[in-house]
Formats: sequence, C-alpha cells, structure tokens
Amino acid sequence: MKINFNIPPYTGKELEYMKQAIDAHKICGDGMFTKRCNQWIEEKTGTSKALLTTSCTHATEMAALLCGVGEGDEVIMPSFTFVSTADAFVIRGAKAVFVDIRPDTMNIDETLIEDAITDKTEAIVPVHYAGVSCEMDSIMEIAKKHHLTVIEDAAQGVMSQYKGQPLGTIGDYGCYSFHETKNYSMGEGGALLIKNPDNIEKAEIIREKGTDRSKFFRGQVDKYTWVDYGSSYLPSDLNAAYLWAQLELADEINENRLASWKQYYESLKDLKEKEMLELPVIPSGCVHNAHMFYIKARDLSERTALIEYLKKNGVLSVFHYIPLHTAPAGKKYGRFHGEDRYTTKESERLLRLPMYYGLTESEISYITDLIHKFYC
Ligand SMILES: *Cc1c(COP(=O)(O)O)cnc(C)c1O
Repeated sequence: MKINFNIPPYTGKELEYMKQAIDAHKICGDGMFTKRCNQWIEEKTGTSKALLTTSCTHATEMAALLCGVGEGDEVIMPSFTFVSTADAFVIRGAKAVFVDIRPDTMNIDETLIEDAITDKTEAIVPVHYAGVSCEMDSIMEIAKKHHLTVIEDAAQGVMSQYKGQPLGTIGDYGCYSFHETKNYSMGEGGALLIKNPDNIEKAEIIREKGTDRSKFFRGQVDKYTWVDYGSSYLPSDLNAAYLWAQLELADEINENRLASWKQYYESLKDLKEKEMLELPVIPSGCVHNAHMFYIKARDLSERTALIEYLKKNGVLSVFHYIPLHTAPAGKKYGRFHGEDRYTTKESERLLRLPMYYGLTESEISYITDLIHKFYC
C-alpha cells in the first residue's frame, strides 16, 4: 500500500470547461467561468462581493492595499501560519506582530490580542487553521473597539462556518485559496470577499491595474482609464474553468472529506481516551470543512518516529508550519508579543495525515491500524 499525503481534487469536467473557455476565445481574466465562480461564492456565502484572484496571497495583498496598511504600521496575526499571511503586509512596509495560539484549535488566542494593540496597529488577521474558525465574536468586538480592520485568512476555510456565518464573510475582508493543496483547486488561485459594498469599486480598480475597466465592461463608463494605483490580480479564465468543475460539486467534495475526517476521528478515539495522542477540537458553533486531519504526538521525537514508521509502511504524513517568528524573515519583519507558550510546543507535536477528495475507507483503516500498532 502506498498513500499520498494529498492528491489535488479533480472531478472529470475540468477539461470540458477549459475547452469551452478556449472555444469562446476568452481565456483572459473575468470571462464566463470567472463570473460563475464569483457568483457561486457570493450566493453560497452571502458576501457582498467575491473577486477571483491569482492566489490567496494576492487576495490578502489586495486587502492590505484596501485598508491602506503602510510603512511602520502593525498587523496582528498568529505566528503559526503560512508565510503569505505576513508577506501580504510586510511587503507594504508593515510589521507583523505575532500573538500566541490556543492549543485546542491552533488558532490565534483571542484573549491575547488586545494586549498586543499599539497606536500603530491597523489590522487583525485571524487564520482559520484546518478550516476551524477562530473565536470571531471576540475578535470583531476588539476590532470595533479599537477601530481596526479584520482580514480573515480563510485560505483553508471555504465551506466552513462560525455560528452560522461562512468563514471569510465575518471580517471586513476574507481571503480564500484555490491552490492545489486546498479543498477546491484551480492550480494557483484564490478569492477576495468584500463585506462592505463601499469597498467594492476600489477593489475592482486595484485588481485591474488601477483602471476602471470593470465599470467599462458593465457599460458604466464609455472608456476605461488609469484612476488609482493597482496591480494585476485576475486569473486566466482557463483556471477559473478548472475551478468551476469543482465548485459545481462542492457539496459532494465536502461530504466526502467530512466522512474521511469522521472515520479518522472514530478510529483513533480510543488512543485519545488513553491519552496517547490528541485529536483535533471543533468548538461548538463551528462547522468545519475537513480541510485537514491532524493528530498531536506527545513531543517532537515521538512525532519524528511516527512519521518514519508511517513512511516505512507507505504512508506519507507531514508536519506543518515552522513558527514565523523563528524564521529569518520573521525576525526581520515581525516580533512576537507576549510569551510563546503554545506556538512552538504545539507545532512540534502536530502531524497531518493523508486527506483528499477520494481517499478511501480502506486506506484510512490501513493508516489508523498503523497508528494503533505504533502506539500499542
Ligand atoms: C494556502 C494558504 C495560503 C496561501 O494560499 P495561496 O493561494 O497559495 O496564495 C495562505 N494562508 C494559509 C493559512 C494557507 O493555508
């Protein structure tokens, strides 16, 4: 048996839709498939506006431009995250201020955020790790009190909810990823979700090289012109066509992943009860999307041994982020506020098991049997 860690999602309709885009002689940005994907996100989540982008990193960069983060400003985020969360702000001259995580969800500890706020703070960037929501009520309350922008890094959170609200729609901006390691893929891609309709026009301009081209296509102006700063954040319609084949089957993909997640959980529960390992925690009010299934070993050396054991038996499992504040760029462009009680310790214990659309029951049984053998 050989089991990959990830196999990018594929439904079978991708090529047909890509051919349709080619036949329409419109494979640049904002073609029919981009429009379908934007509309799907808007209908599914209720956001005022969704704009497909070339990546989640770029969606976050757009959010940084929209909220005017600049030189010397500070942005609060967890250190246990992907580099893009910080990059999008650091590239504008801002400093990343890292706050410790909660050990249960691996998300930013909302009770530590307020203490990290200074007069330079501009934004808070909660990251919904594994598609499990941060404590958004508290975060939004803090943001409101201190007049801060909230940008949700919901790269892993497509189809997840917090108290009935889709992730990405709670903060001022939400950023999705459609990278091939995520639940729905276009190879490289993402989306920016905009809550306040007043911010839509500026977002469209930033995404279209600083021009009002979007208005022109809607017939609202008779020629388009350079009106503000911007860049090029539109993906090709070929990529959007690829994504559309998956969004169309989003519920099926989601249910398939959730069934795998549940099987893992049920099969490993006894080891958790014997306190041999820890399993993910889903707080009440959170609906997740089975982006990931992870376990926590007792410590780094046990995790290393388990990775080796699984690999020897054909199963690829992987650890995750090296905390950003310990990385060279993290030291240069960021600082950790408060004590690192959990970020480093918990990240060293975490191990991600194979998870993808189409992973079979017998493959999961094989993996969980191996984990039992390792521990017993
Ligand atoms: C994948 C990921 C990103 C980056 O997404 P891209 O689409 O590759 O830019 C950002 N943040 C988190 C938490 C991610 O998991």
